Amino acid sequence: MRDELVALAKLAKMDDSARDIENELKQIPERLQELRTGVQTLESMLAQEREQLNVARQLKVEQSGELKERTEGLQRARKKAAQATSAREADAAEREIEANRRGIKEREDELARIGQTIKAKEASLVEREKDFEEAKGVLQSEEESSKTRVTELEVERGKLLNGRDELVVKIPKTVVKRYDRLRTGIANAVIIIDDGTCTACRMALPPQLSIELQRADALHQCPHCRRIIIHKKVIED
Ligand SMILES: [Zn+2]
Repeated sequence: MRDELVALAKLAKMDDSARDIENELKQIPERLQELRTGVQTLESMLAQEREQLNVARQLKVEQSGELKERTEGLQRARKKAAQATSAREADAAEREIEANRRGIKEREDELARIGQTIKAKEASLVEREKDFEEAKGVLQSEEESSKTRVTELEVERGKLLNGRDELVVKIPKTVVKRYDRLRTGIANAVIIIDDGTCTACRMALPPQLSIELQRADALHQCPHCRRIIIHKKVIED
């Protein structure tokens, strides 16, 4: 078991040396995805605001049409009032004038509100477009620089992990499996100790275990933190 433990210690040291690189390689696509999501969010907000602006403009056209009708209606009613031949006709014309005046006032108020809405929407749209373009620019430059960085990191990782496969074949598959499972959760899955304490969790190991560790005839894990522990003497001999 000694040779296997030595190989495992070397493998763990190798993996630990590449750990920062592995992390960065994992973070780069995550960061890019975040940026892409941000750009998409801005894009859909932009589309929404453009749609709102279109609706407001459409409303303005409709209200302007109604205002025109009311204005024409007012002119007709005034004509009727001028041409009225009876008090009843004059009253009716007067009521028509009033109704049209009210209608005109309502349409004008509505148009003023719509005008404000359009102005505000146009202004925020300019801002939104600026944000969108900015975010797109950031994404693009990050995508480019990430490509370079990923290549660099992969080369670096290749160097650090050179000879890894040769080490793996020296270790029993069940041990490699256990090691792989452990290292997905913790940074230093294999710990080298030189006294009765686990250097990772700083807990004292049972005295019997310390002795067994030096014999190097089995794979042991820290009873407290579950890390694989190997005695320094085993890898030094
Ligand atoms: Zn421990």
